[in-house]
Amino acid sequence: MARYTGSVCRQCRREGMKLFLKGDRCFTEKCAVSHRTAPPGVHGQGRKKQSEYGIQLREKQKVRRAYGILESQFRKYYNLAANMRGVTGENMLSLIERRLDNVAYRLNFGESRPMARQMVTHGHLLVNGKKVDIASYQVKEGDVVSIREKSREVPFFKTLKEQGEKRTIPAWLELDAQVLSGTVKSLPTREDIDLTISEHLIVEFYSR
Ligand code: SF4
Repeated sequence: MARYTGSVCRQCRREGMKLFLKGDRCFTEKCAVSHRTAPPGVHGQGRKKQSEYGIQLREKQKVRRAYGILESQFRKYYNLAANMRGVTGENMLSLIERRLDNVAYRLNFGESRPMARQMVTHGHLLVNGKKVDIASYQVKEGDVVSIREKSREVPFFKTLKEQGEKRTIPAWLELDAQVLSGTVKSLPTREDIDLTISEHLIVEFYSR
């Protein structure tokens, strides 16, 4: 599957916000966003006024890049959300938040979403005791996400237990750090998603 292979920090600079794609480095002063505020590229300094379309586009790109989702897949989330009851923007974010790679990230199994995604695609994760290696897999209420028995012997996973809770686990998930297992207590709502974005702009972008 096609994926972005360029500099991830460049993506943060383009969006003008931290997308937390590099794990621990994002919390240090080495973070590119901390000391370089202009968008990347030779014309970065010159870009000032944005059109309405440009603002909507940037809002969509922020979410797409933070979660590492391709355009075609992102549009599918929008279409699904638009056909659900409730507020389309909130439904869309909830669907994206329920991706298995994001759940692994939220449970602190991976330092960043790209790392968590790799964990899933390399077959280290189980959902309700069965191996699932599809990053976009949608978790449901009551699902139990854990690390495969064999993978727990890998040094990285062994140290995970000792590290404790690096980031706060959101209220919709519950982690048993001793056995590296997380339970989906409820489906995520807008309040559970800490990304600073205006989802209504994304809805407007796709409604054009
Ligand atoms: Fe983004 Fe992290 Fe790079 Fe900072 S260090 S620019 S937050 S990926």
